[in-house]
Amino acid sequence: MLDGLDPEQREVATALGGPVCVLAGAGTGKTRAITHRIAYGVRSGVLQPSSVLAVTFTNRAAGEMRGRLRQLGAGGVQARTFHSAALRQLQYFWPKAVGGELPRLAERKVQIVAEAAARCRIRLDRTELRDVTGEIEWAKVTQTVPEDYPAAAAKARREMPRDPAETARVYAAYEQLKRDRGVIDFEDVLLLTVGVLQDRHDIAETVRRQYQHFVVDEYQDVSPLQQRLLELWLGDRDSLCVVGDASQTIYSFTGATPDHLLNFRTRHPHATVVKLVRDYRSTPQVVHLANGLLSQARGRAAEHRLELVSQREAGPEPVYGEYADEPAEAEGTARRVRDLIDSGVPASEIAILYRINAQSEVYEQALADAGVPYQLRGAERFFERPEVREAGLLLRGAARAGGADTQLAGADDVPSQVRAVLGTRGWTAEPPAGSGAVRDRWESLAALVRLAEDFVRARADATLADLVAELDERASAQHAPTVEGVTLASLHAAKGLEWDAVFLVGLAEGMMPITYAKTDEQIEEERRLLYVGVTRARRHLSLSWALSRTPGGRPSRRPTRFLNGLRPGSAAVRPGPGSPGGTGGVERGPARRRKRGSARCRVCGRTLTDAGEIKLMRCEDCPSELDEALYERLRDWRAEEAARLGQPAYCVFTDKTLMAIAEAVPGTEAELSRISGVGGRKLGSFGADVLALCAGTCPTSEDASHDASEETREK
Ligand code: ATP
Ligand code: MG
Repeated sequence: MLDGLDPEQREVATALGGPVCVLAGAGTGKTRAITHRIAYGVRSGVLQPSSVLAVTFTNRAAGEMRGRLRQLGAGGVQARTFHSAALRQLQYFWPKAVGGELPRLAERKVQIVAEAAARCRIRLDRTELRDVTGEIEWAKVTQTVPEDYPAAAAKARREMPRDPAETARVYAAYEQLKRDRGVIDFEDVLLLTVGVLQDRHDIAETVRRQYQHFVVDEYQDVSPLQQRLLELWLGDRDSLCVVGDASQTIYSFTGATPDHLLNFRTRHPHATVVKLVRDYRSTPQVVHLANGLLSQARGRAAEHRLELVSQREAGPEPVYGEYADEPAEAEGTARRVRDLIDSGVPASEIAILYRINAQSEVYEQALADAGVPYQLRGAERFFERPEVREAGLLLRGAARAGGADTQLAGADDVPSQVRAVLGTRGWTAEPPAGSGAVRDRWESLAALVRLAEDFVRARADATLADLVAELDERASAQHAPTVEGVTLASLHAAKGLEWDAVFLVGLAEGMMPITYAKTDEQIEEERRLLYVGVTRARRHLSLSWALSRTPGGRPSRRPTRFLNGLRPGSAAVRPGPGSPGGTGGVERGPARRRKRGSARCRVCGRTLTDAGEIKLMRCEDCPSELDEALYERLRDWRAEEAARLGQPAYCVFTDKTLMAIAEAVPGTEAELSRISGVGGRKLGSFGADVLALCAGTCPTSEDASHDASEETREK
């Protein structure tokens, strides 16, 4: 059991008695050490499996830990998030503590806050409503009651959406409304558990008899409320093992703080404190950049930074990519992902990580175009997100009603119509203050508004109905069954995970650090977020940004300040120990530029900038010579091919590519290869079939046979 651990990790695993605190950097084996600790304790008979509660940060991490424990012969140990552990206890004890069934979880919190504001006769516009809701959530996890909110928020230097006294009144009314209706919210689950354990010693004793040993992963991001719950679970005992890395604190915006980790010794003077510095995850090249980033960090967490020492063999230097615009960045990234897969890296070992979920759309599209299967982590696919689906339905309704739709009164161009419709669902011209779920929702709607603007820029006479059709097409290209593929995730959702190859994209000022990070502390949190991103990579690391958002836009963006002095060609910020010189080379996505710059409509000759039009190789509204029958044959063939490979259809060819083929009717491989979306790999796999279909002959079974090794790899 202890063989797979180094001496310090072994110390963690064998210190089964008293309190243990592990302070260590990314990839040093903290999670591995605690998993082995539990398994060692169970196998050596010191820990009863049912008496151990392991707390991790996400349900997924909890699931993974249960799996690892089972493998190590310690199944039966509870591994849960704070929230799920609390909910389980609450459901169990509620009938005894309060009587009756546990109230149900309220679904639409914002709605209740709106009613609460109305009761107080306080008018909140949509943005204020969301921001006030965020303030109430923060108040609850920091255990701040309504009367104390104004003072506490001022002390924490919160950006307050309204007069704090008004927010406090809405907060109080919100709590009352929930009581009246017999519902609870997400934060109440922890608050009520804390309440029951505090007030009912008999229940607290029962819980403490059940759980005697506690292990907490990612302890740097514990909220005051979670900390309180942990203390109540523990009582006056001290079998507690916490592990964390202050340099990876990325949830302070929700009220979490690394203070509990950093002050552990003060509260537990006899604690065994272990530091791990050997990085088993990443190559020296990746670790060098991670150390460089940390050497520029400031603030309390930074004072406790630990320089990482890689234990792995040398690997490739990080690659930096500067692109002209976001679609070019996404396409360039998808191309490099494809190359990695072709060179033997499994798709499931590759991740593309971005700052906010709304950035996923352009990557979902680019991967679909490149025929690379993907899965989203921590968020649904763009077109499957509830707010995007709801917006799609509303837009469809408005398009159908046309002039009869009252929402559209006075909005005569398509983007204004979209803004008017989405305005009823929370879109506002200015983003809401702060972050979290409210901000995510707004970002999704804002992405739809931008999509409408781009669409109309490429097609001046487009109607709302055309836009709805475009959205449908994009949605169907992305509506694929979840397959084992490349991971798309936000940096927050990537916490604790690792991949062979990691692409950190969108690293331009404004996105990294994000515009709403204003104070020094918020900027430092953004830097830590980038550190978390860098340290997810085992071997291949790519960092990229785009100089403008849209094709043809002004190249006014700058790469993130956090890479100054670290990426080649940038001025050093604060040369110091650990601040490395240049690494890697900047790739400028040249192929993409050339192609994009010279793309012209093959009907009218106009220069094309819209990604969809480039794919079609003509303006959307130029007359199409689409061979409908050929198009249908190609689609049927694609369906069979996709079924044979066990992959979604878009991985064979997207609709746009099939359309371009059915228009161009290529007669030779060279002609076919000029069509956007037909790369070398696809030419090899499908070229013969497609040319046969274009020539009007059916692909023979021989034509349709493929290199077996390639097929296996694709599966
Ligand atoms: P993070 O801070 O990102 O959560 P961590 O400190 O929890 O990282 P782990 O995920 O436990 O790190 O380990 C990182 C990688 O290094 C894993 O693949 C793990 O299996 C491996 N590893 C850890 N310790 C050792 C060891 N002693 N020998 C070999 N591999 C190890
Ligand atoms: Mg970990």
